[in-house]
Amino acid sequence: MVPLGAVTALLLITVLAWIARHQTTMQTMIRTALKRHEFHLVYQPVVDLHTGRWVGAEALIRWRRINGEMIPPDIFIPEAERAGLITQITERVVELVTYDINHHFKAFKDFHVAINLSAADFGSDQIVGLLYRLLRTTGLKPGQLIIEATERGLINAEEARRIIRDIRSLDIGVAIDDFGTGYSSLSYLTTLQLDYLKIDKSFTDTIGKDAAASHVPAHIIAMARSLRLQCIAEGVETTEQAEFLRMHGVQYAQGWLFSRAIPPAEMAQKLRSMKSV
Ligand code: C2E
Ligand code: CA
Ligand code: CA
Ligand code: CA
Repeated sequence: MVPLGAVTALLLITVLAWIARHQTTMQTMIRTALKRHEFHLVYQPVVDLHTGRWVGAEALIRWRRINGEMIPPDIFIPEAERAGLITQITERVVELVTYDINHHFKAFKDFHVAINLSAADFGSDQIVGLLYRLLRTTGLKPGQLIIEATERGLINAEEARRIIRDIRSLDIGVAIDDFGTGYSSLSYLTTLQLDYLKIDKSFTDTIGKDAAASHVPAHIIAMARSLRLQCIAEGVETTEQAEFLRMHGVQYAQGWLFSRAIPPAEMAQKLRSMKSV
């Protein structure tokens, strides 16, 4: 009779081996995808809640494999972060954004583009050079480029503070993303120079649904105001949520109520048609 401990150990080893194999496969796939240019961007509009105007867009990465299969960013971004591949992905995102701005968004002078950065991007100065090149090759004006960083990305406060200062000295806006879901301590927020606070979808979701929880977004908005940060609410799906946010002084919002993320050509088309109204 095989002892139970041995069976458990064997099972554990099998599972760990499976996970390791799965991760290496995914890492190899990401490397191949970078070589084969399987990534592209879609853009979700940022809407001014007071005027209804589309004032900017967040670039969101998409991975379509050669066989047509789509792999969602929630799956491959964490994997790329683990494997140390995320800075290469960021580099590709910056290339793609440069192309999209030059080919689709150039005519829209009061329109901003936001890019997501990961924690590892704040580990070296490379990102500052990348963003500088992006500005130079697109001719974007101050305020037309925003970077989004999660609290996790900013946890190494000393280094992050220096990189953020360099980024802001290029007149690039800085947003704290998914606010309230990470390790945030208020004290470190006040030590960083930020421009925008993005209210995470999990808080937007509570508006109008959960009476006990829905005072949280109101507190976040009040805090943003005291820190002099502009709020951008994520994941707005109902007019009730949009109205609540607007009434509480939130200026900007994104969400399926307004639009899902769309290809750059479609975004440009929309912006042109809105201009002529
Ligand atoms: P995120 O930065 O919080 O991006 C917002 C996500 O919420 C997007 O999912 C978007 O499609 C989704 N969303 C927007 N509005 C609504 C809504 O009204 N309802 C619902 N249910 N969902 C909404 P997506 O594109 O799947 O991206 C997932 C995450 O992947 C992003 O979350 C971001 O953390 C990461 N990501 C996406 N693109 C990039 C990138 O270029 N670089 C990096 N480092 N991370 C990225
Ligand atoms: Ca984001
Ligand atoms: Ca977000
Ligand atoms: Ca989010």
